[in-house]
Amino acid sequence: MSPGLIIVSNRLPVSVKKTEGKLEFFPSVGGLSMGLASYANNRRNKWIGWPGLASDDLSEKERQIISDELLKHNCYPVFLTQKQIDGFYNGYSNRLLWPLFHDVVLSKSAVEKEDEYWKVYRQVNKIYAESVLARSNAGSNIWVHDYHLMLLPALLRAERPDDKIGFFLHIPFPPMKGFTKLRDAPALLAGVLGSDLVGFHIVPYANNFLESVRHYDLGTIQPSKVLLGDRVVRVTDFPIGIDYAKWRRANRLWGVRKEYLRLKLKYWGKKIIITVDRMDPSKGLVERLVAYQTLLEQNPDLHKKVRLVMIAVPSRTDIEEYKRLKEKLEKLVMEINTTFGTSNWQPVDYQYVSLGFEQLRALYQRADIAFITPLRDGMNLVAKEYLASRSGHSGVLVLSKTAGAAEELKDSIMVDPAKPASLVRGLKRAINMPRKKFAKRVAIMQQTIADSTIHTWAGGFMKSLRQNNTLGKGPTASLSDLKQKQIVDDYNRSFKRLILLDYDGVLAPFASRPEDAAPSPKVKRLLGKLAQTPDNTVVIISGRSRGNLDEWLGHLHLSLVAEHGIFTKKAADKDWQTTPNTASNNWQAIIAPVLEKYAAKTPGAFVETKTAALVWHYRKANPYYAHKYLVILKRVLKPMATKYGLQVKQGNKILEVRPLGIDKGTSAIAWLHSTSPDFVLAIGDDYTDEDMFAGVPASAYTIKVGRGTTKAHYRLKNPAEVEQFLEKLSKK
Ligand code: UDP
Repeated sequence: MSPGLIIVSNRLPVSVKKTEGKLEFFPSVGGLSMGLASYANNRRNKWIGWPGLASDDLSEKERQIISDELLKHNCYPVFLTQKQIDGFYNGYSNRLLWPLFHDVVLSKSAVEKEDEYWKVYRQVNKIYAESVLARSNAGSNIWVHDYHLMLLPALLRAERPDDKIGFFLHIPFPPMKGFTKLRDAPALLAGVLGSDLVGFHIVPYANNFLESVRHYDLGTIQPSKVLLGDRVVRVTDFPIGIDYAKWRRANRLWGVRKEYLRLKLKYWGKKIIITVDRMDPSKGLVERLVAYQTLLEQNPDLHKKVRLVMIAVPSRTDIEEYKRLKEKLEKLVMEINTTFGTSNWQPVDYQYVSLGFEQLRALYQRADIAFITPLRDGMNLVAKEYLASRSGHSGVLVLSKTAGAAEELKDSIMVDPAKPASLVRGLKRAINMPRKKFAKRVAIMQQTIADSTIHTWAGGFMKSLRQNNTLGKGPTASLSDLKQKQIVDDYNRSFKRLILLDYDGVLAPFASRPEDAAPSPKVKRLLGKLAQTPDNTVVIISGRSRGNLDEWLGHLHLSLVAEHGIFTKKAADKDWQTTPNTASNNWQAIIAPVLEKYAAKTPGAFVETKTAALVWHYRKANPYYAHKYLVILKRVLKPMATKYGLQVKQGNKILEVRPLGIDKGTSAIAWLHSTSPDFVLAIGDDYTDEDMFAGVPASAYTIKVGRGTTKAHYRLKNPAEVEQFLEKLSKK
């Protein structure tokens, strides 16, 4: 079984609202939650994002209620203050990135605030990073969504070199000339390049991205990939789709039928043209209305025969440009209706509203023509939904060539939104189009939409993300019998052998109480035999205390490493040696109270004091407080760690602080130096063993026990398989 998936997006699929002091939870609108529903519903996966309301006036109790409720949906909130929302979401994301990526002219006031917004954008991306790191373990698959979080992949990569990180951009990526207008363009690219896989809707967006990477010389560009040292970042297209079957079959729903009848009566005898968009400058709503106005001016014969139903969905209502657009649009609607309208014909039926699924589906069904002409659009799902909702192969679609959907829906009536005359011509062609003539084209487009759905999109991205990425290194293979035989042959041919073995999960299965995980007599016999073999150095390299190791294995001719490398006892020695380190002498006295302080605030958390490490355990803690204080703790510990020469490592529901240079990797390197072996075998199961796998040479045989991403070359399932393998090795 592969590790769980962490989905990270600006908004969670569940939103929270506070009205008159009461918290209300409701599903967020948008295709993303639907597309990822099957992942979000799986309890092994987590979705991290903003719950949709400012945290300023939320009490501690309310935050906990929100966290607990969201947890039921496998969702984890990132709380943001109004100031952060203004700078990060309304500011940098929606007043700079969004318009720039959609070729919309930036407003002067937004450009003036670029610096101010950037600071908050960076700060909030860091908050997201902390949240993801605190809620996931090394070896996770992480899928980051959209332009709000472009810095996140690199922030995660810095802490998690071996995680699989995917990034998908739901909006267009602009040509290099436009993108590089942003002062912090290189930082945004470097952020995205923290990923293993970067997805765009269509190939031109991917190429624009690569072009910008080339412009700043951030890596070696190859077709569909960027090479960065020993990492490969794959850059490719994944066009997002819709739930075709759901839209297609919805005509059977009672709610849709009822609404359709209502619309049929309301629009009786008219040719209905629809536009359905969020109220957004990139959607070209004013340009579209102007085209309709021109059409009515030029074609009096169409008066009273057609009607434009314009659904404008309220969007980003806090932003000045959006408010102005609404005013402008409504003025134009009024002008058209007063100029051309009569007592029984209103040319534009304008609705500033967000329709529910059934209402929208019925409207699509009733509309003779969909007039969808955004200035620029990442994909445009409305175009696909419209075609999926048509009975048989009816309907006519007018579509901008600048919408991502135009790549797939080539059989629509394609128009250029930059040319007003093209819109007028396209609309007129649609009105005059004989139904039958267009049906063939609709059928082809419907098939395309049916073949590439929201499910194939999500599944395709995930499958691609899980593929291994490192240069030269293939995926970790299970250790076949044949390979085992090769290793045994190599072992027998070699002159000097170093065998590094982790203890828990490798030589003994986990027990519910750590003190119960003693080695079996058979394991002891095998270890004894291996250790007695001349020219073998067998090292048990563990996070356990000296006491445990002495008690269980002290009588064998083994070398022992306790507490991840703090203590070492060579096979021939009686006494343990302490590994010198550069940490300040009294660091534990300084750090322990800090850990204790946050343990006290976190019901269920506690601090374990090891000889040279401190561990903050939170397995049994309340998840809301555990996460909250884990993030704060990491933040507080960071400067202290630098000051006192320490490292802070997050493990399986623990946060461990120990001196720098004390880890299994450093220890493994020391053993390599002291033994100069020509055969190296390292077996481990935990995240701490990854340091060991990284520390040994590429020619070493590295084996990971159990699941999870790893640097090891081979994999065995469990300690029983390790035992069998060691038995083969010991039969020299
Ligand atoms: N939509 C909706 N209610 C409405 C209008 C639109 O739920 O009244 C949905 C629509 O079904 C579509 C989405 O909003 O799935 C709009 O997606 P699109 O890709 O067209 O544009 P975006 O808003 O993402 O820029």
